[in-house]
Amino acid sequence: MYQVPRGTRDFTPDEMKIRRYVEEDMKSTFTTFGYNEIQTPTFENLELFTAKSGDSIIDEIYDFSDKGNRKLALRPELTAPVIRFYVEKLQMEPKPLKLFYFGNCFRYDRPQKGRYREFQQAGCEIIGTDTPEAYAELIALAYYNLKNIGLKNITLNIGNLDIINSMFTKIGITDKIKKELLPLIDKSQFEEIYTILCIENISEDIAKMFIEILQTSNIDKIKDYVKEDNTLTEEISNFENILHLLKKSFNISKYQIKISIVRGLDYYKGIVFEIDAPVLGAEKQLCGGGAYDLVGLFGGRDTATAGFAIGFDRTILALEVEKFEFPTPKIDVYIIPVNKEMTEKSIELAQQLREKGIITEVDLLRRGVGKSLKHANSKNSEKAIIIGQKELEKDSVTLRDMKTGDQQLVKIAEILSKLKSS
Ligand code: AMP
Repeated sequence: MYQVPRGTRDFTPDEMKIRRYVEEDMKSTFTTFGYNEIQTPTFENLELFTAKSGDSIIDEIYDFSDKGNRKLALRPELTAPVIRFYVEKLQMEPKPLKLFYFGNCFRYDRPQKGRYREFQQAGCEIIGTDTPEAYAELIALAYYNLKNIGLKNITLNIGNLDIINSMFTKIGITDKIKKELLPLIDKSQFEEIYTILCIENISEDIAKMFIEILQTSNIDKIKDYVKEDNTLTEEISNFENILHLLKKSFNISKYQIKISIVRGLDYYKGIVFEIDAPVLGAEKQLCGGGAYDLVGLFGGRDTATAGFAIGFDRTILALEVEKFEFPTPKIDVYIIPVNKEMTEKSIELAQQLREKGIITEVDLLRRGVGKSLKHANSKNSEKAIIIGQKELEKDSVTLRDMKTGDQQLVKIAEILSKLKSS
């Protein structure tokens, strides 16, 4: 028996209904914020992903050579493809350019619940502005996107990479040690960070203070710690402005400042943020984003860019854990011919109803009335129409309300208005 490749999944019709429902909901939030949808190819030239991250990323992605010996990769994320698209074709568009996407991504990850080798991301990029209001709006969009679909328990953490970089400079950490520390900071492994700092001959007091600032959410303490760095003045003022707008204008008060968000320092800069669903445990991160630089690297005219990606599959997992009630799949009408001779008329009526947008099924198994009614029930049909010879002679059919069991004779010409009025 064949099985799906490791880390990939099939989706049943019911699961697809849920996925489409969540997608539609997310789309409508993106749209209300003035974002427009784009699509890019599933595979790209490998170089697009190694340009910023280096060859080490090849271990984590699906790369291959095609029959023309081109080096390609299944996309592991969509920010680089979107910026490639922007540089190739969209640079002349009026700014800010607000784009959203849904797309499958592929990573050579170790599969577990919430972590797959093929998964879907929903994301946004805003191009051409770096104002605090643009960043605040972007963060609010990510937050409300997840709130609007019905998640009750999410946490928003906001950090700033310029601040953490300045902290490294302040204590005199080399780039090599910085690389070693970043994954530990990302995972909040503060004891290990302390050990490395001590090995690097950083004094106990300085190391302890550094770790305290990594863990504090008190902006005044952070400001005080980096106060000698004049280059940070504007960034910190913008950072505070973003936080102010989130609270006052976007009505988001439940966020935490988390300076230890690092998100791959080579990619992002300045503002960064993450949204978690604590109910998911280890794989709780639903969304990651921030400001980044890629346009120049891809040969475009430098302009500010920021964005976020939401893990679509994890969002659905979180909704399920929170026992969110997805709408039950249903159909409007199930048409039952009482015998073979009534088949033609049944199909004809079904087709007329479908043309008017009524979700209609016809018995295709010649099951007879009793079994067909049971089947209609299992498909959550609102109504059943039973077509028999005697009724047809009066240009009528039997309309049954599947909830109450009430039946009435209805003229075929009046069926549509009857269905629409109930
Ligand atoms: P990233 O592009 O790594 O910032 O990921 C953005 C979001 O995509 C994460 O917050 C996760 O929710 C989701 N994600 C990342 N990797 C995977 C994966 N292997 N399986 C499922 N979701 C993922």
